[in-house]
Amino acid sequence: MTETPRTALTIAGSDSGGGAGVQADLRTFFAHGVHGLVALTAVTVQNSLGVQGFTEIPVDVVTAQIKAVAGDMGVNAAKTGMLATADIIEAVAKTLDEVHIGRDTDTPFVVDPVAASMTGHALLREEALEAIRTELFPRATLITPNLDEVRLLTGITVTGAQTQRAAAGALLEFGSRWVLVKGGHLYEAEDCVDLLTDGTDVLELSGVRIDTDNTHGGGDTMASAITSSLAKGADVPTAVTEAKQFIARCVAEAYPLGAGVGPVSPFWRLAD
Ligand code: PLP
Repeated sequence: MTETPRTALTIAGSDSGGGAGVQADLRTFFAHGVHGLVALTAVTVQNSLGVQGFTEIPVDVVTAQIKAVAGDMGVNAAKTGMLATADIIEAVAKTLDEVHIGRDTDTPFVVDPVAASMTGHALLREEALEAIRTELFPRATLITPNLDEVRLLTGITVTGAQTQRAAAGALLEFGSRWVLVKGGHLYEAEDCVDLLTDGTDVLELSGVRIDTDNTHGGGDTMASAITSSLAKGADVPTAVTEAKQFIARCVAEAYPLGAGVGPVSPFWRLAD
């Protein structure tokens, strides 16, 4: 009989353009040989030019999806992406406790604190930031903010290695076990350095900057690649290191699609 693969649950929004959100998560899980489970939180209307709007899924439907799959299929790791509202965040946090997913359980939980698209469209109602800090971060094995999200969450503008460390310290205060502060566009034209720390161990993970305009879905793909490795039993530093290597290829092989920003691509992983 064929063996059941490891499973990963994404609690996130749909991207009609197929490059970010649950679509990015599912294709990343697939590329890792992990079976993807979905609790949809919102439906965005978007294409390569940006997000035109979104509507959220009723809270009880979001939580019912989590309970349905966790109870029957089992979840080896979970992640959140776009959560849209404080009501959804609060209900998701409570439900994760009920199904034993989170930092103090055997099932790792990654929080990608999605606040806006890179084209500047809000993907989170403003009052929901506080719920991310107080409801989700204390339950997270790892949080993966980009520099814009770091500024929104801590008020710290990261301009170099020192402020990146200060931001990591401030974020850990909210209660996650690990924090990954992604360097993004910080060091122009140099390596892109991500800082991973649990307050004791500090790892600086550098990657080569790749010149492309097509980076849609990069954050989601990175977080779901980490979640895939965690689902397969890797520890956090190993999962993040593996995900850095994975995303570097995805960015290098990003493709044009539509008139705007094309998606990063996990297709290389499937090539012969
Ligand atoms: N749409 C959805 C549903 C998302 O979850 C995200 C990011 O998490 C985005 C769009 C934004 O993607 P990007 O900023 O890479 O364009």
